[in-house]
Amino acid sequence: MPRLAVLGWPVAHSRSPAMQTAALAELGLAKSWSYEAIEVEPGQLEELVRSLPGDGFAGVNVTIPHKRAALALADRASESASAIGAANTLSFAGGRIEAENTDAPALVEALPDSPAGRRALVMGAGGSARACAWALREAGAEVAIWNRTAAKAVALAGELGVGAIGEGERVHAREFELIVNATTVGLAEANGDEAASAQADDLKPLPLDADAVDERHVVVDLVYGSLATPLAAIARSRGAHVVDGLEILVRQGAASLRIWTGLEPPIQVMRRAAREQQS
Ligand code: NAP
Repeated sequence: MPRLAVLGWPVAHSRSPAMQTAALAELGLAKSWSYEAIEVEPGQLEELVRSLPGDGFAGVNVTIPHKRAALALADRASESASAIGAANTLSFAGGRIEAENTDAPALVEALPDSPAGRRALVMGAGGSARACAWALREAGAEVAIWNRTAAKAVALAGELGVGAIGEGERVHAREFELIVNATTVGLAEANGDEAASAQADDLKPLPLDADAVDERHVVVDLVYGSLATPLAAIARSRGAHVVDGLEILVRQGAASLRIWTGLEPPIQVMRRAAREQQS
């Protein structure tokens, strides 16, 4: 009976078990496959991962803060995982640990159309910004990275061969067709206890004026919670095409499930399960 899991620290909040369990049931695999959440401290990741194949695991998802370490302990990594420097999917076949990054294709697949030739602003310079900027560059977009700590944006952009917004430089949202939030801005609001209407001020930590976002934009917010993020809410109210963090979560989970089972994942079922707790 193949087992699957998500490894994180903390991991209790993860929607992956509900989403993947619903997918396994839809595929008729509920009796033979299972998906659980396993909390693992950073110092214990390697030992745990090496024990998993012997305990019947076919693969795992890996989330914060283990994505870089997961890549490092793999016997083989895909080109994208190596280039991004992080893995969110491990599979155990033939006694080897194989690493993949499904966050990157998830972003591109979730867009309403191809980003080729589009000007894309990626906000953030952490792990997920790196995956987004790499994926968009690979898909042919013209990428610029902005980060609160500008030096990190400049360094990441230099590594990936894309543009950067330097210290003190202004961002003009109208110059971009695609805007991606890969910072943690909006996390507190999305996990708030009650729905509060998003205020333009909520975007202050980001280099965006709410009134510069409009129906010409595709806005992706990687952040998700039980409520819409301020960026997603404001962009939606201004007519932009919004792709939220739950959609990215669903897409990366679907790509992982495809790797482990070789079957086509039931995206709608996964979407419904992931959104069940969102009001
Ligand atoms: P990370 O590596 O810790 O990077 C955090 C980024 O946020 C950095 O660029 C940091 O800027 C910026 N930041 C933090 N506080 C800020 C503030 N007050 N104002 C402006 N910028 C701020 O995190 P990560 O792993 O890339 O994840 C980023 C977000 O994406 C998280 O909320 C995560 O949950 C979400 N995510 C979602 C999915 C999904 O499937 N939907 C997948 C991956 C990640 P500095 O460099 O200046 O500190």
